[in-house]
Parts: sequence; structure tokens; C-alpha cells
Amino acid sequence: MKAVVTGGAGFIGSHLCDYLIAHGHQVVVLDDLSTGSESNLEQLRGNPAFELVKGTILDKRLVSDLIGESDTVFHLAAAVGVHNIVDKPLESLRTNLHGTENVVEAAAAHGARFAVASTSEVYGKNDSDGLTEDADRILGSPLKSRWSYAAAKGLDELVAYVYGTETGLPCVITRFFNIVGPRQTGRYGMVVPRFVSQALAGEPITVYGTGDQRRCFGSVFDVIPALVRLLDTPEAYNTAVNLGGKEEISIRGLADRVIELTGSSSEVRFVSYSDAYGAGYEDMQRRMPDTGLARELIGYEPTRTLDDIIT
Ligand code: NAD
Repeated sequence: MKAVVTGGAGFIGSHLCDYLIAHGHQVVVLDDLSTGSESNLEQLRGNPAFELVKGTILDKRLVSDLIGESDTVFHLAAAVGVHNIVDKPLESLRTNLHGTENVVEAAAAHGARFAVASTSEVYGKNDSDGLTEDADRILGSPLKSRWSYAAAKGLDELVAYVYGTETGLPCVITRFFNIVGPRQTGRYGMVVPRFVSQALAGEPITVYGTGDQRRCFGSVFDVIPALVRLLDTPEAYNTAVNLGGKEEISIRGLADRVIELTGSSSEVRFVSYSDAYGAGYEDMQRRMPDTGLARELIGYEPTRTLDDIIT
């Protein structure tokens, strides 16, 4: 495989690069290093099968040139992080939407296989038990804030779907649910690394809202092989597939678990959403994937426990 990984200097992208290189593939990363970092790719520096190109997915010519040399595209570049999205909603919409359009158009033009990272946030406020991929659930009940992210990702899915069905582009859409692992930074609001660094520093662990909101964290080491396998599975083309973990926990429970596992003396401090993110901020109360479709398509069975993920 000669793969282009957009957003390859980010958390998930860098693990994908490690995996692809370890499996004998060639990889070119396109990343503007806005939330990603060259240090995430340090281990691949000097490897003849690997190249990092610093640039943006908004640069249509660059995107086309790089994808023209490849046979597979993993599109992970996006404006992410709650603060980024809440502070600059239209900018993040533009990056995620126009960038994806450039990438998918180039993949279709050059006959490369295409995978795009979408998100559980396309389910909006829907908090039912085990969210399934049914199309009528997407973008059905908008949140007041960070809707730009969900809307852009929902539109990305539709654009990918149209290219897949109308041009025959082999196209995989994965909806990630709270993926966690090494190299993820708490800087952009990701809860597990933020809690762990607060616990290790002995600082108060700041829980936003009541802490009763529930999440299900998935390991990056479970989802990367699944992502690659989906691209080798034609039955998975032109449909969205949930990828995540299986253990649900409240954010308050997560804080307690992190304190216990790190042996920290940190206290838990509750901060209102408006103090954390500004007035009008709204969060999903529950985010629990049904990964039955991934199981059916590729035998997906996450093996890492929440404790594995935290430690
Ligand atoms: P990340 O911030 O670590 O990775 C995103 C990467 O994209 C960064 O390296 C960043 O520098 C790069 N980027 C941003 N804008 C760019 C641009 N205009 N041009 C080129 N590169 C650009 O985040 P991540 O958690 O690794 O997320 C990867 C993908 O997975 C994203 O598309 C994200 O929306 C999606 N996702 C992640 C999660 C999760 O739990 N981590 C959940 C749902 C969806």
C-alpha cells in the first residue's frame, strides 16, 4: 500500500502511521501541525518508507499531487478539540468541510481507496442505549454548541457517500467514539489525558458539569487495525461504521478511577459548563456505541479494558 495519511501527526494518525509502516506499507503524512506534532512521528524519522509533508488539506493542488502518487488515503485531518470548535465554529466548519472535499475529490480522480474519520458527535443529543448506524439518527437533534463540528463531519460523511456511490470510489466511513491512548494530549479538552496529568501533578481533577454524563472510551490500539481491515472489506464501503470501546463510565466515575490507578491525592472539583466553555455550552449526556456492524463486517471485538486505556 502507498498511503497518504492526512492528520498523520495527530494522535490517531501517528498510531496509524506506526501500524502501516510496521506492516510494510509506504506512508506520506500531510499535516499542518495545528493540533498535531512532529514529535508524534519522531520514531519514523529517517525511515525510507515514510515522509512528512507540512501543509494543509485546504491546499487543493498539494492534496492532489500527494494523492496522485498513492493508492490509499486515510483522511484524519480535521479541526478538533472543544475549545477550538466552540471558539471558532465557522473556521472549523470550513476546514473540515472544504478540506474533506479536496481530499475525497483527489482520491476519486486518482482511483485511490478512501477512508474518512467521522465521529459519534453526528448522533447529536441522541443518548439511547447503543447507538446504531441507522441513517435517520444522523444530525437529527443538534446540540447548541460544537454543532459546527458535528455538522461538518455529517456533511463529510454525505460527501464521501456520494463520491462512493456515484464514482465507484472504495469508501469507508468510521465513526470514532472517544478514542484514547498514548500521545493524546489534554490540551484541546480530551478528558482522559487531562485527568491523568492533573492526577499525576497532584492538582484538582476538574470535572465539567455534574459528572453524571456517561462515555465509553475505546483504545487506539483496537481501532487502528479495524480501520485498516475495513478498507480491505468491500461490504464495508459506502456505509458508516461505529468504532469504539465497550465499557461505559460516568465522568465522575472516570475521575475516581484515574485517582485510584495513579495513586494520586488529587481532589475532584466540579466546574460548570459555562465557566469551562462559556454560556450556552451543551454536552451529550451519554455516548455509547453499538459496534455490532463492525463485528459483523470484520469481527471487531475491542480487547482493551478501561484500566488498560488509562494506564
Ligand atoms: P488530532 O488533533 O490529534 O489529529 C488531527 C490532526 O489533523 C492533527 O495532527 C492536526 O495538526 C491535523 N490538521 C488539522 N487541520 C489540518 C489541516 N487543515 N490540514 C492538515 N492537517 C490538519 O486528533 P485525533 O484525535 O487524532 O483525531 C483524528 C481524527 O479522528 C479527526 O478527524 C477527528 O475528528 C476524528 N475523531 C477522533 C476522535 C477521538 O476520540 N480522538 C473521536 C471522533 C473522531
